[in-house]
Amino acid sequence: MTITTTQDTRRAAAEAFGKKPAGQLFKSTPSKMLNGICVDCGGDATSFRDALSVKEWTIAGTCQSCQDEFYGGDYDDGMDGDHESGLASAGFGTDEDYGAF
Ligand SMILES: [Zn+2]
Repeated sequence: MTITTTQDTRRAAAEAFGKKPAGQLFKSTPSKMLNGICVDCGGDATSFRDALSVKEWTIAGTCQSCQDEFYGGDYDDGMDGDHESGLASAGFGTDEDYGAF
C-alpha cells in the first residue's frame, strides 16, 4: 500500500509542524513539507508505505527511504525491548509532547 500525500495534507502538516516546539528549531521544515521535499536528503517526500510512515513524516519531515534507513527498514518490530526501542520510547521518532524543551 502506497499513500501519496495531497497538497492539503502537506499544508496541514506544515502548519502543524510550525506550531510545535520543533518548528522553532527547524524553521525550514514547514516549507519543505509543503513542497514534498525531504528535510534530510532533499528528495521526494510525498509517497509513503503506510499511515505510520506518513505520521512519521509529519513529525520529522523525512521521506520513506530516509525513514527506512533511520529505522533499518524494521520499524514495525522496533518496540521489542532492545537498545533501539529504548531510544524510540525516549522520543526518537515519536510525537511525544513535553510541552517545552
Ligand atoms: Zn530523504
